Amino acid sequence: MTAPTPTYWLEPTEQVAAGLRRYTRRDTDGGWTCAEGWHEALVFTGTEPAESRNTDHGRVLAHRPDVAHDDPRWPAECARGCGYQFTDGDVWQEWQEQLYRRADTGEVVTLRPRRDYDPPGAPTPAPPGAMWNAWWMPDTPAWRGPDGMALMVRLPDGHDWHVDGEASNCTRKGDHTHKCWVRQGDPRTGSVTAGKDGDTCAAGAGSIASTGYHGFLRDGVLTAG
Ligand SMILES: [Zn+2]
Ligand SMILES: [Zn+2]
Repeated sequence: MTAPTPTYWLEPTEQVAAGLRRYTRRDTDGGWTCAEGWHEALVFTGTEPAESRNTDHGRVLAHRPDVAHDDPRWPAECARGCGYQFTDGDVWQEWQEQLYRRADTGEVVTLRPRRDYDPPGAPTPAPPGAMWNAWWMPDTPAWRGPDGMALMVRLPDGHDWHVDGEASNCTRKGDHTHKCWVRQGDPRTGSVTAGKDGDTCAAGAGSIASTGYHGFLRDGVLTAG
């Protein structure tokens, strides 16, 4: 049972968090643990100005020169403390993630969930209740609501709910003239209700279920689940 969780809007900032990530390649269907041979480390090197990729929304790191592989900021070993030392053949990835500003508190956060081996300086993950426009999703009615947004909500259990998407138990699958969750209210003011009031299907009663949460979004609040 979780307490009711108020939602809040995330506005994209003009900055991204930049970092340097190393990880081992996965050539087989191995697992995601050190014992199974998968190792990872990500360090953050600061915030950088973003630039718009298109006219509407969506910002990416401004172009910059590649970071040389002998730059000492690249992590040398697995962040999980297993002692694995990265080799030249492991992946060198220049990381970037969009930074958002909470409309309610002004705090700057990221969408990336926290990992227990995150280094100091990692951006703060958006806590449950966050709402944002997943602008990178396809620009079709199957993915977006009537205001053109692909609305996402972070649930109390940390799962991200695509409000404008199709419910797993939809009874009109593939029919994009309806919405499994009909939403009302402006996400930017944190007053959204998602329900069955409109052209919809017979799936549920407008509730949302994930692994660790089952509840409703009403008047900008995720009900106790
Ligand atoms: Zn490891
Ligand atoms: Zn449906």
